[in-house]
Formats: sequence, C-alpha cells, structure tokens
Amino acid sequence: MKLRFDNQFARLGDKYSVKMKPRPLPNPKMVSCNLLGAELIDLPSGEMSSEAALNFFSGAEIIAGAEPLAMVYAGHQFGGYSPQLGDGRGLLLGQVRNKKNILWDIHLKGAGQTPFCRGADGRAVLRSSIREYLASEALHHLGIPTTRALCLISSDEPVMREKMETAAGLIRLSENHIRFGSFEYFFYTNQHDELKKLADYVLEIHYPDLGDDDSPYDRMLLEIAGRTADMIALWQAFGFAHGVMNTDNMSILGQTFDYGPYGFMEAFDPGYICNHSDDMGRYAFDQQPNIGLWNCMALGHAMVPLIMPGTIEHMKSHYQARFFECYHQLMRRKLGLETEATSDPELINWLLTLLKDHKIDYTIFFRALSDGCSEYGHDFAEWFDSYHKRLEQEKTAPEQRRQNMRATNPKYILRNYLVQTAIEQAEQGNFSEIDKLLELLNNPFCDQPHFDSYAAEPPEWGRHLEISCSS
Ligand code: AMP
Ligand code: MG
Repeated sequence: MKLRFDNQFARLGDKYSVKMKPRPLPNPKMVSCNLLGAELIDLPSGEMSSEAALNFFSGAEIIAGAEPLAMVYAGHQFGGYSPQLGDGRGLLLGQVRNKKNILWDIHLKGAGQTPFCRGADGRAVLRSSIREYLASEALHHLGIPTTRALCLISSDEPVMREKMETAAGLIRLSENHIRFGSFEYFFYTNQHDELKKLADYVLEIHYPDLGDDDSPYDRMLLEIAGRTADMIALWQAFGFAHGVMNTDNMSILGQTFDYGPYGFMEAFDPGYICNHSDDMGRYAFDQQPNIGLWNCMALGHAMVPLIMPGTIEHMKSHYQARFFECYHQLMRRKLGLETEATSDPELINWLLTLLKDHKIDYTIFFRALSDGCSEYGHDFAEWFDSYHKRLEQEKTAPEQRRQNMRATNPKYILRNYLVQTAIEQAEQGNFSEIDKLLELLNNPFCDQPHFDSYAAEPPEWGRHLEISCSS
C-alpha cells in the first residue's frame, strides 16, 4: 500500500507531539470501509480490503513514510481548564498529500495508551467508534463541515466501561487535527514562541492568503470564529447536538470534531441535552451558539500574545453577525423562502414554538412541508395562513420551490435508535447494518424507497436513549 506522506506536523518538532507507535489492536477485522474516504487520500478502493491496509490501520505495522505521533493539547472541559490533555488514545499516523495537493491527517482513534492517557486504557469501544464513523459521514452529506471517516476496525480486546465491551479502531481523516485547546496549551504554559509557530503553521497551510496581511493572526482568529459560527448555524438548522463542546473538541477549521454523545433532534425540544452526563445542560441544543462563542473567546484569549487589543471584541460581534446571518438564511431556505422579509425571524420562531409545544419530529415536519403539506392540526392553522401569505411574495414557481426545499430538508437523518440498532447487531458480530446506514446517509435528501422505514419516527424504545460520555 502506497500513500504519499508529507508529515508537516511532525516537522514542527517535539514540543508539539510525542513520536510513538500504536499498540496493535488484537485480532483486527476491517468491518466497514468508506470508499469516499479512500478517494480523499487517493487510495484505490480495492486496497482497502488488503492485508496491508488492515495491518496499517489497526496499528500493527507502520508503512513507509508514516510517522505516528500523539499531539499535545489542553482545553476547557465543561467550563474548567484542564492544563494537560493531548491524544490519550489517538495517534496521528501520518499526513498524506493527495493529487489535489490537499494534506490529509490520518488519525487512528483507539491506538493504545500514550503519555497523555492519564491512566486510562488508550482504547475506544466498538459502540463509540461506530457512532463517530456514521455521524461524521452523515454530517458531511448534509453539507455540515466535519472530520471524515475512512474505516472501522473491530478487535476482540476486552475493555471495561460501565460494562465489559470490546475495543475498536476508527480511522479519522481531517485536513487538520489542531484544536482550540492546542493554542491554549502553549499560551497557558507560557510557551509563546511555540504558540506563534503553531499559528504560523495553521496560517501557512489553511490561510495562505493572510500571510502578507499586516495582522494575519487577527484575521485568522476572525476567520476561525466565522467558520465556527457557520458550522453551529448548520447544527441548529439541521437539529444536531454535539454534546461535548469542550475547547479540546473544537477544530480550528470550524469542523464538527470528536463525536461523543451527540444526538439528532427528533421531537423538537430546544433544551435537548443529548449527553446524559451533562447534568447542568451546559451543552444543551439551544446553548450551542453561545458556547461556540465562549469557546472562540477562549481561543482569542490564548492568542492574546499574537493579536492586537480590541480584536477579541471585534471577533465577538463578527461571530454573532455570522451566526445569525447564516442561521436565518438556512431557516429561510428550509421554508422555501428565497427572498428576505423582516418578518421572517418571527415566522421561524413561531413555527419552532409550535413544533416544541406539540413535540413534532423536526426532520419529518420540514420534509412534509417541502412536499406541500399545508396543515398539521388546528393549532398550526394560523401559522400556515401567515406562511402561505409570505410565500405570495416569492417569485419561485411552486415546483421549483418543492425541489429546492427537498434539497435542503433531509428525508433521512442518523436517528439515535438507528445507530443503536447498528451497534447492538455489531456487538453480536453482525456488521451489515453499518454499511446499510452508510449507504442511506450518503443520500439524505433523495427518496430511497427501499429505506422508507428509516425515515419514520423512532419506536417508543428509541425515543429516550441515554448516551453517556463514556467511550
Ligand atoms: P474525549 O472525551 O474523547 O474528547 O477525550 C478527552 C480526553 O481524554 C482526551 O485527551 C482523550 O485522549 C482522553 N481519553 C478519553 N478516553 C480515553 C481512553 N480510554 N484512554 C486514554 N485517553 C482517553
Ligand atoms: Mg476529545
């Protein structure tokens, strides 16, 4: 197996990471491959089923050019600062430059203990690896920036969580694994030269146009905040709750990163807490936009040695403006509104209140609306009247509007019970549901008649699944 490695991060030096080998997953089995992921790193699809691929991705063998390392970072977890985190169970196996000249990090999550494991076992369980594998691809196909997934590897190594489980490995792909918490680490340890070097690394790879700017770090901070705001606007519009928005889980590319106890909104509830361990609801669905800003402020604070006074205040207003602009645009699009009216936010909030009061399935409602549904019971009548009046101001023909709305409002989302079913079957040794969901979620906007039941509301047992932080 040949990959074109270009390990830029390793070249930053040993202040940023610890070079080390993975601890191989015993009895590894390639249980699912994402061929769209293989394409990103120019890996011919046939190679994914090779022994070489299994050996490399399960940590058994280091292929030529790979330089595995554990990255160091810190981060604010549930509001409190943790000075030393880092890859406790993941390793950056190497960075691959593809034909389009894009550098992809190949990261093995569940690679065994590292110097940053803080006594934990360095493994990831099958359950949480399946969750990340499916969710990252689901979000990508909805058009939400995210890390990607290449493959999922099972193992028979026993791992203790609330109960005995087995270890697994997930190969995650991302154009960058640098977190807000990476900057925080160098700031709070007073390594300001290293902080600057990290910022220069990010600038050179991801923001090359800012290099000649008078204040590139200020511009970069604004750009990161803007991308974060856009990403969270997408989460809100699609009903995605991340669950653990700690600053070490925030990507400086504004991508959805580090999937844990996430959840998709079903019966609409703005206060939805998907993480069963989040007692205070810090990361509840409707808190995400504020927490996103809080995290950007934490990043801004860590960049104080590099930026000018006033930039953080500027970033704050920039974030808020970007978030509201992006969110309202997305919500208008969900309603099939191409033009902008000052009354739109009111129309949107009115609808969300109705959905909440009547516990209506968020995804099913918008899909039905796309297909021309014009009543949802007595309490919705007035809202529909206003909505239809508002549509009269639109120039788009109804059929075109229907098409636009169907391309915006997905039919299929990764419902919690769907992942749960795939997990339960996988834990019994049957992995076929994972590939099925991957196929389904590749096309969330198209009717797939053979998958019709996957678009339905969850069964009673699947409505209140409790997902804890343990993974
Ligand atoms: P997470 O909750 O997955 O974002 O992880 C938070 C921190 O804990 C990171 O530094 C992880 O690397 C580390 N961590 C989580 N689970 C484990 C584990 N089983 N073994 C070692 N480190 C872990
Ligand atoms: Mg994390």
